[in-house]
Amino acid sequence: MIQSPQPSQERAKRSSDYVDDVPLPPLRKPVYILLQDHDRAERLAQQLEFFGLGVHALATAEAFCAAMRGRLPAAIVMDVDFSGPGCGLLLAAQAQLGLDQAVPLLFFSLHETDTPTRLAAVRAGGQAFMTGTLEASSLLEKVEMLTNATQYDPFRVLIIDDSRTQALHTERVLNSAGMITRSLTEPIRAMAELADFQPDLIILDLYMPDCTGPELAKVIRHNDRYVSVPIIYLSAEDDLNKQLDAMSEGGDDFLTKPVRSRQLLTTVRNRAVRARHLKARMVRDSLTGLYNHTHILQLLEDCRLRARREQQPLSFAMLDIDHFKKINDRHGHPMGDRVIKSLALFLKQRLRKTDYIGRYGGEEFAIVLPNTPLSAAYKVLDEIRRRFAEIIYPAQPHDLHCTFSAGVVQLDQAHDALSMASAADEALYRAKHAGRNCVVRVDPA
Ligand SMILES: [Mg+2]
Repeated sequence: MIQSPQPSQERAKRSSDYVDDVPLPPLRKPVYILLQDHDRAERLAQQLEFFGLGVHALATAEAFCAAMRGRLPAAIVMDVDFSGPGCGLLLAAQAQLGLDQAVPLLFFSLHETDTPTRLAAVRAGGQAFMTGTLEASSLLEKVEMLTNATQYDPFRVLIIDDSRTQALHTERVLNSAGMITRSLTEPIRAMAELADFQPDLIILDLYMPDCTGPELAKVIRHNDRYVSVPIIYLSAEDDLNKQLDAMSEGGDDFLTKPVRSRQLLTTVRNRAVRARHLKARMVRDSLTGLYNHTHILQLLEDCRLRARREQQPLSFAMLDIDHFKKINDRHGHPMGDRVIKSLALFLKQRLRKTDYIGRYGGEEFAIVLPNTPLSAAYKVLDEIRRRFAEIIYPAQPHDLHCTFSAGVVQLDQAHDALSMASAADEALYRAKHAGRNCVVRVDPA
């Protein structure tokens, strides 16, 4: 489900998010789709609905204009020749006039096109161009890309400074630029705060009573997980030698107080952007963008500790695409990759923002569901399983359908991350033996 993280006072309620019924995700803004072949647009819309995306196939220019007046979509998919040769280009360009922010626009042409058409598409504000067979999962992938590009995921900055006044001032500057901050006046609590807050970047004071900034930087760097989190010193110290000493102890930058807001923001933003890129390469799988094997297990362990601390339920699931070898053998590896990517997208669309999804192995996925009891996790996964089986992959000589099997477990007293994973794997194995295309849950003894 797509849900924003909830404030802590609602924590008690969270465990029931999945319980009452299996809610479909609250749909994000819809996508408007306009093709010359309206039946095709309708079929595509239906396919995209399986991914949890709200899609309106619009049949006429008038219907499109009315829809645009009513509600701006997440994206527009427009056939260049909708309602006449080249008319789609014009219509899309007109629709963007007078908007505060352009709506992501994707052009489509049934046939391969010439450069002038593509140029016209760029001038009409098109951010992507697709030709040939429009397939739901590759279209969704494009839409995801375009809408994420315009989505802003705020940076998280941890400020460690014994002066509350200074920390508050820094927080205010960063907050004004939309960053999320937390400040800590007792450096001794830094490691717990890091684990809990998972900042993109740390701003560190040089002189504090319990320990110095460089000492703390060393402690932070001793933990593999935080080796690449940028540390920026912010201090009134203006002795260059002392600054350089501090920098050589695990720091990335040194800002001298008083610092201009703009300099602080630029430094923080540049460092944070680079750190995010680097981190994504370390923890994400390159085909699907999901977390990789190592990181999903790390996240499971983080969630396990939190679940214990907060006495909340935690579920964990393993999924495996059925007969995957056959798909590769019959249709080739590109089709196999497409199915893997489409299941990845499907899971991203269908699960909550607070759930963690990983690619565990070749065609195997792992999902961490915090604050979720087993019965609710089972229902959600079974609903996803049912829906996923309805997706059609255009292929020769016959269109392709795929299914997956899954095993799901809930955290119990004896579990650590690895034993929980192997219990889920065992349940998955049982699902395979029960004939595949099913979810097996392991109820606590
Ligand atoms: Mg100080």
